Amino acid sequence: MLNYKLLTPGPLTTTDTVKKEMLFDHCTWDDDYKKITLSIREKLLKLAHVSEPEYTAVLMQGSGTFGVESVITSVIGDEDKLLIAANGAYGQRMADIAAHARIPYTIYNEEYNKVPSAEKIAEILEKDPKITHVSMVHSETTSGILNDIAAVAKVVKAAGKIFIVDAMSSFGGVDIPVGDLGIDFIISSANKCIQGVPGFSFIICRKDKLMESKGKARSLSLDLYDQWETMNKDGKWRFTSPTHVVLAFAQALREMEAEGGISARAARYARNNRLLIEKMGEMGIRPYIDGSNQGPIITTFFYPDHHNFSFQEMYQYIKDRGYAIYPGKVTDADTFRIGNIGEIYEEDIVKVCDIIRSFFEKHGCLDGDKALSCAG
Ligand SMILES: *Cc1c(COP(=O)(O)O)cnc(C)c1O
Repeated sequence: MLNYKLLTPGPLTTTDTVKKEMLFDHCTWDDDYKKITLSIREKLLKLAHVSEPEYTAVLMQGSGTFGVESVITSVIGDEDKLLIAANGAYGQRMADIAAHARIPYTIYNEEYNKVPSAEKIAEILEKDPKITHVSMVHSETTSGILNDIAAVAKVVKAAGKIFIVDAMSSFGGVDIPVGDLGIDFIISSANKCIQGVPGFSFIICRKDKLMESKGKARSLSLDLYDQWETMNKDGKWRFTSPTHVVLAFAQALREMEAEGGISARAARYARNNRLLIEKMGEMGIRPYIDGSNQGPIITTFFYPDHHNFSFQEMYQYIKDRGYAIYPGKVTDADTFRIGNIGEIYEEDIVKVCDIIRSFFEKHGCLDGDKALSCAG
């Protein structure tokens, strides 16, 4: 049977015990099932360091984008205006969502290898008092950069605006003090750092801000308030819930606790990431993002100079030997990406780096021990 581990930013490699939960076809209307949903919501609040009644958690069917679209199209009124700080494809996607729903917005575009500046955001807010909401991505998976949401939260809160964070690829893998930062809506999904399987997203919301959004949603199925209202009664989902995914997610949360919570998981991911960058560095392969802004989730690497192979060739070679990597996504450089989240350990990093080394050697990209300069 074809078998490989995913070194991608989600879906990611999950444990057999998480996958095994999906062998049961659970009924949705009984108390057992509703209790599972309620317990997931409670545990998510704990992971975010917040609690009822200030905050509440809503689960939403669909992939991560559905969660982001649910927030943007549900909580921003027709008279409001959104400022999007973007330094990658996922920030850009927020603008796409706003444009589709005809939501008034403005965008502050930053270079993909730079973090959005809190000072610039403060200036924009001062110049344009119409802005009511600010949104940004925490871990921009496009490049692997980790944006400074703490600095931005400070200026957004000082200006009295609502702060929306896409923490899709960081929540659970980087500790986020959601309450202390005053984040109003933070979004992630089942198949990233909590290590569940794809099928729903979740949103941790400041309750008062969620209440104010009642009746504002432009979509029926993505109506955040309505979803919360039904789910909050007794844990029943509005419309069919992804039962197998929910069971797997409940198990993933138990396994996260057993590992030692976010701090232990964050430490494992950070170790994976440090080792990856170090071993690639030994081959002369440089990361696209500066050390100080590089996040612990996924890393974008430049190819060896003058490489004479395609990404497809490299991908296939590595996949045949047990790992799947990711193509680059930054627009201004030729790159590839390696993720290190999921059920991945240092031994996997060592293995994949050895595979990459042998691929580069085969293509004459290494000069003895050290890198680059391929013929061709
Ligand atoms: C994965 C991801 C998303 C959501 O992508 P989907 O394909 O819809 O699950 C959104 N933002 C970021 C930063 C992501 O990493």
